[in-house]
Amino acid sequence: AAKAEGKRRAVVYSDVHRERALRSVRVERELRHALAHGGLEVHLQPVLDLRTGATTAAEALVRWYHPERGLLAPGEWLDVAEQAGLMPELGAWVLRRSCALAAAWPVPGGGTAGSGADAAAADRPDAQAPAVHVNVSARQLDRPGFVDVVRDALAETGLPPHRLVLEFTETHLDEVSDALLDELATLRDAGIALAADDYGTGYSPLTRIIELPISMIKIDRRFVADMLDDVRSRAIVTTLVRLGESLGLEVVAEGVETPAHVAELRTVGCRSAQGYVWSRPLPPEDFAAWLAAGGRRSA
Ligand code: C2E
Ligand code: MG
Ligand code: MG
Ligand code: MG
Repeated sequence: AAKAEGKRRAVVYSDVHRERALRSVRVERELRHALAHGGLEVHLQPVLDLRTGATTAAEALVRWYHPERGLLAPGEWLDVAEQAGLMPELGAWVLRRSCALAAAWPVPGGGTAGSGADAAAADRPDAQAPAVHVNVSARQLDRPGFVDVVRDALAETGLPPHRLVLEFTETHLDEVSDALLDELATLRDAGIALAADDYGTGYSPLTRIIELPISMIKIDRRFVADMLDDVRSRAIVTTLVRLGESLGLEVVAEGVETPAHVAELRTVGCRSAQGYVWSRPLPPEDFAAWLAAGGRRSA
């Protein structure tokens, strides 16, 4: 009986396995097609300054408009793209698309991205069109020539380097070679900001942060979500805000869902945040409309 049971389990296991493999093959084929024929898009989530309520940036988040399954968030298929070796190509596409969109965003309060914006900006020297945050995967970063891909995207789209933020997760920043860190430092020196995404979820020592060429910390949303009920999560948020302040790093809280969270983030001195309380990631034309309407929210 035990033997029969084992056999049955083996059959079930291999079915699941085969099903999964077939799914990967199908998703990979459809994804290659989408990449080649315009089936992908980036959606944009506003990042707000908590003091002024102004939109200072947007995070670009890739979406797949699947012909049968509709709009697909990356959680459903990014792993397949990684395994299929599609990330360098997909990442380069996202980067170029994000820079091209951002290059056309207006300076808040006046003009468009052309000469009118320059005139408006001249009146208010601090005014600047929003930056764009682009996620970079480990597979993309490993590829030689990553730095050139970034430089080409800026050159092709005309986006000034200081309006681009590249997001890396803490874990994969921890794995990069010293040679690559030097290359990333050249990007930073060119004016591009590097952000540690989902910060606080990895296992690197806190001291690691001063060895990396980063200028921004994005606090993982699980700490933000829990900070009202869990003193330890609140302590982590507070510590990261202070750490950022003392090291001169910008700190952005992610996943802000309620006005109570906004109030608490203000209390602990956090200056920037993004989350559903203000806006979900928006299709490019809706984000443009958001900016045209002033891009300003209080909460
Ligand atoms: P992430 O970079 O940490 O992005 C934030 C995720 O949190 C996004 O999910 C966003 O839609 C979601 N989010 C924003 N505000 C809230 C909120 O208030 N509550 C909750 N519960 N969630 C919120 P999304 O778009 O599904 O992306 C998931 C992850 O996929 C991203 O996490 C990022 O790691 C990856 N990803 C997305 N786009 C790209 C891309 O173009 N390239 C690469 N390499 N990775 C990407
Ligand atoms: Mg991110
Ligand atoms: Mg994140
Ligand atoms: Mg994440």
